[in-house]
Amino acid sequence: MQFIDLASQYQHLKARIDMRIQNVLDHGQYIMGPEVQELEEALAEYVGVKHAITCANGTDALTLSMMALEIKEGDAVFCPTFTFFATAETIAFQRATPIFVDSDESTFNICPKDLERCIKQTIAEGKLSPKAIVAVDLFGLPANYPELEKLAKKYDLKLIEDAAQGFGGSINGKRAGSFGDIATTSFFPAKPLGCYGDGGAIFTDNDEYAELIRSYRVHGKGSDKYDNVRVGMNSRLDTIQAAILLEKLAEFPRELTCRDRAAAEYEKELSGSYKTPQVPKGYTSSWAQYTLVDENRDAIMREYKNKGIPTAIYYGTCMHQQTVFKALSFRKDNCPVAERLAKQVFSLPMHAYL
Ligand SMILES: *Cc1c(COP(=O)(O)O)cnc(C)c1O
Repeated sequence: MQFIDLASQYQHLKARIDMRIQNVLDHGQYIMGPEVQELEEALAEYVGVKHAITCANGTDALTLSMMALEIKEGDAVFCPTFTFFATAETIAFQRATPIFVDSDESTFNICPKDLERCIKQTIAEGKLSPKAIVAVDLFGLPANYPELEKLAKKYDLKLIEDAAQGFGGSINGKRAGSFGDIATTSFFPAKPLGCYGDGGAIFTDNDEYAELIRSYRVHGKGSDKYDNVRVGMNSRLDTIQAAILLEKLAEFPRELTCRDRAAAEYEKELSGSYKTPQVPKGYTSSWAQYTLVDENRDAIMREYKNKGIPTAIYYGTCMHQQTVFKALSFRKDNCPVAERLAKQVFSLPMHAYL
């Protein structure tokens, strides 16, 4: 049994994906070929935003967004402590200071109450200027955007949605990738919508941000490719990856239904024995992970292993516990919920071909 079964997915889509790749080999436009624009249009339509801009990976998608929002040294950027490293890394990469926020007990996402406490504390200390919130749709479940948007407005902060795991989820019919000022996703193979290498995308309704990001993505180009008007990076999505994603995106709604069915089956079988993931009313999850919480995690994982069922820990270390961020640990109470989650969570196999 596979933790994420990419081989079964490929077998299911083989004829279509092979044909798409062959088309690229035939036309030979490997960089920014027609499939890239076709994909960007399809992504924008699926998510329900004006602009979808593809890039090299989900980490670059965050960096490009932060460049557009001019996040810089001296800025405080609030993010969940219980997340994948890239969320915090990209804040620090801009030379801004990540402020780590505790998790909501039931959703594992950034806790709006603790977030407001951190914002107030940062303002009271007066050392950093509060600039933005990066929320993460952890394990596929969108963060609490109704509350986060209120806080962003109240404290005049920009809001970035890190939907690397959340692509495909929604709140009251509004899709992940459409929340905040700018949203990002990753097409790393193991994500809900993955390609066969690295890939990422940025979503926004804001024309000005979109133009900046399109420029930063290709060496800060101006209207002419060889007129560089700002310092950017090289972060394009390969045409072959775009071609693969076009076929995977077409299949994605059906796969989401399969993931939902697998999650419902897990819930039925496991809710008596474990704390199972709960999806709040009005929300849907893309089930990037199916994650349980248990004090006896190690023993349970061993038992599953003996039965041939792979499990994994996402995540065993909070951001405020990471070696590189130890010097930043400014909070006396740290983050009790996230620290407990890091000790107790484990994830079961989850994919559309389970
Ligand atoms: C995977 C992931 C990223 C980074 O995506 P890459 O494509 O691997 O760079 C960022 N944030 C979160 C929450 C992720 O899970």
